[in-house]
Amino acid sequence: MKIEERFLNYVKFDTTSDPASETVPSTMKQKELARFLVDELHEMGIENAYMNDFGEVYAHIEANCDMKERIGFIAHMDTSSDCSGKDVCPRIIRDYDGSDIELNPRVILSPKEFKNLYRHLHQDLIVTDGNTLLGGDDKAGIAIIMSMAERIMEDESLKHGYIGIAFTCDEEIGRGADHFDLQAFHCDYAYTVDGGDINVIAYENFNACEAVVHVHGKSVHPGDAKGKMINASLAGMQFHMCLDPFKDPAITEGYEGFHHLTDFQGKCDEATLSYILRDHDEDKLAAMIKELENVRDFMNQRYGYEIIDLEIHEQYKNMRTYIEKDMRCIDKAVKALKECGLRGDSEAIRGGTDGAMLTYKGLNCPNLGTGSENCHGRYEYVSIQDMDVMTEVLIKIVSA
Ligand SMILES: [Zn+2]
Repeated sequence: MKIEERFLNYVKFDTTSDPASETVPSTMKQKELARFLVDELHEMGIENAYMNDFGEVYAHIEANCDMKERIGFIAHMDTSSDCSGKDVCPRIIRDYDGSDIELNPRVILSPKEFKNLYRHLHQDLIVTDGNTLLGGDDKAGIAIIMSMAERIMEDESLKHGYIGIAFTCDEEIGRGADHFDLQAFHCDYAYTVDGGDINVIAYENFNACEAVVHVHGKSVHPGDAKGKMINASLAGMQFHMCLDPFKDPAITEGYEGFHHLTDFQGKCDEATLSYILRDHDEDKLAAMIKELENVRDFMNQRYGYEIIDLEIHEQYKNMRTYIEKDMRCIDKAVKALKECGLRGDSEAIRGGTDGAMLTYKGLNCPNLGTGSENCHGRYEYVSIQDMDVMTEVLIKIVSA
């Protein structure tokens, strides 16, 4: 099957995940795509494919030579809730000529605005009708992995090691690795195949913490408050104003870390400030935590009681710290990317990935691109040629 046909089949499924849901998966419709993928894997002759109770799909192909490394590939089935993923109406633009693409009369996909289009001149692009997202993030990854599997199953002359395949749910809401079955997957290392420039392999991401600042005020009738009232909301504002203003996500980039105030709830009596703290460098993240602790100590001293208490939760870590101890996954991928005419650069992600969580849990898992661009919105598109090249890259990675 051509990769474009495969991709067009997958985007018919509405698989939007829901951050407000407490079920697993967060939306049951993700399981419909999971069932479809299991059937497709069975049709290829991969009988062991199955969906587990969490809606995740696992499958593997045994080695047909004495290659020892067990290598896995992972893509996620859900799409972002930032934009509708229902009734996606894709259209193929053949031999893209660099001009504006009218998705509909009101929505224009223009290279003047989206410079990444210039990377795809004379390629065939799949775009939306301007009303929904496309779902290239990450159905392009699924299409690439499935195309690799089909080629491996059809061509017996291809000598390869053990190949693990997994399709996960709820990546877009940060829960993709929560239920991942490392035992069933049983690989030495793996790759997420998810979004972005195909020239790049990403194995650096933020170290991440969450901080919750509880402010305990003293509420008194305002008419009778002199010398007694301590307004927790005002103290919360004071807390924030004591933090380094240059560590704001709105003015940081590259390797610069930040603290981001994600939520502020306040009354006179109590206030709560929620932050996420991010830095690629563990020591710098520790310094940022220290800064919050210092402000807490200052305010507790200044007010003469414990007005502030602070909770810090670790969220995930930079996978580089772990991957550097065993660079096989990077060396193998860079070689494969270069053999396919791609650059094989490494690039730091300003965020986390499911791969970062899995690496933390013991499965080294850098990310490979798919050729999908402008994710999470109606300007999303994928390049058919990029998906084809990445299929070749994956085959090279598992080949003896
Ligand atoms: Zn993704």
